[in-house]
Amino acid sequence: MAVVPIIGLAGGIGSGKSTIATLFNQLGIESIDADDIARQVVELGTPVLTKIHQRFGDEILLEDGTLNRRALRHIIFSQPEEKSWLESVSHPAIRESLIVALQQAKSNYVLLVHPLLFETQQHKMCRYVIAINVPKEIQIQRVMNRDQIDEETTLNIINSQLSNQDRLDKADLVLENTGNINEMNAKVLEMHETILRLIK
Ligand code: ADP
Repeated sequence: MAVVPIIGLAGGIGSGKSTIATLFNQLGIESIDADDIARQVVELGTPVLTKIHQRFGDEILLEDGTLNRRALRHIIFSQPEEKSWLESVSHPAIRESLIVALQQAKSNYVLLVHPLLFETQQHKMCRYVIAINVPKEIQIQRVMNRDQIDEETTLNIINSQLSNQDRLDKADLVLENTGNINEMNAKVLEMHETILRLIK
């Protein structure tokens, strides 16, 4: 396990995890993003990509041999059994890479930024968990703007994740991400000081 305390930053898609993690980075706190790790474990030449290819055939790859994420997303949101299969293959690989990355952190604590922190039980690796609270309407708008996807796809993803309320109930600390970036910066600074006190 990591030498420094792990603080979870949990929030659904578009809740502001990356934005908030960047603000912590500016305070010198390292962060490991489970989404980045999830992308790395399916890069060209990885064992997980080979298994995906074997299961779904050439259709699941782009011309350059990399994963066709859009095609995969379509399959897993329309076929729950394929989603379970994908998770059974990818989650152990993600977990292993996450642990390696977390162990290398050298800041006072390290943030584990994760859209499915509780769903994957990885909150158990964390000393404390911060949940990001954002109203669903704002979340939908931010995802649609950022990813250029329609409302139905956005809602499918949001509804496949833990509800905002469930996440808040399970977390130790809450960050509201409804204000502008300056307001967020102030809230992050306050949270940083709280965490430093808690882990002392
Ligand atoms: P996540 O990493 O949780 O998926 P992001 O940090 O990418 O979410 O945020 C989703 C989108 O919303 C991004 O386009 C981001 O720039 C925007 N966003 C996040 N927080 C705020 C905020 N406080 N004010 C305005 N836009 C925001």
